[in-house]
Amino acid sequence: MSITTNHLTPDKDPMGAAIAEYYVHGKADRLRVFSSQFDEDAIHVRQLFRNFKQMPPLEKTALKLAEGKILDVGAGSGCHTLALQEMGKEVCAIDISVRSVTIMRLRGVKDVQLMNLFDEQFLGSFDTILMLMNGSGIIGKIENFPVFFRKMKQLLRPGGCIYMDSSDLKYLFEDEDGSYVIDLAGNYYGEIDFQMQYKDIKGEPFDWLYVDFETLSLYANQNGFNAELVKEGTHYDYLAKLSLKV
Ligand code: SAH
Repeated sequence: MSITTNHLTPDKDPMGAAIAEYYVHGKADRLRVFSSQFDEDAIHVRQLFRNFKQMPPLEKTALKLAEGKILDVGAGSGCHTLALQEMGKEVCAIDISVRSVTIMRLRGVKDVQLMNLFDEQFLGSFDTILMLMNGSGIIGKIENFPVFFRKMKQLLRPGGCIYMDSSDLKYLFEDEDGSYVIDLAGNYYGEIDFQMQYKDIKGEPFDWLYVDFETLSLYANQNGFNAELVKEGTHYDYLAKLSLKV
């Protein structure tokens, strides 16, 4: 998954399988999430089908601010795309999951493509690019920021911008006395590896980036973008607006 995987085929796509099952049966098992850095966790598949009312405030804000021609990157079940369509906005969804793309079509997403954001063949011009549900994850690692921002420059119309949500994971490394145990010589603390499993379908491990706002701003600036903190969430999460420097 992410920057190097072109498409996810059904045999390697646990999230797509969970989304398809929930769409067909109205319920699904837990989507299991493994990481070498954390204990086993789970995604409740119902949450991938949230409607506008059920979305967290950061996502609602991003959807309200989105304008013009919108790109929903890693659209999953299409929850944001469908909400935008209902608002009468023009939106294109992309995802690398064959199954999720099929389900989005069935759910009524009008413009959806099976596409990796980083694919050279992916061209277009957008006023708003949305990356939601820890949208920075798709960048994978800090070292991929230049590639990411280069792609954003290709896809954004003049005056366009990106809305991305992420979290500062620093709180996970906080000691009882309030000090932080972060290895400054190691990798950036928000670089996480994940692997998912749904029933007997296990995906390949993938890199997923959580980035604090300061670090995001630093890399944005180095790559010709301004970063603005639009809104903070309740748990170290935030929504950022990234726009090309003029
Ligand atoms: N935005 C949705 C889904 C988030 S899960 C929501 O908020 O519910 C992340 C999604 O991104 C998955 O569906 C995954 O298949 C997709 N994805 C991962 N890497 C991608 C890439 N490089 N290009 C496009 N989609 C990607």
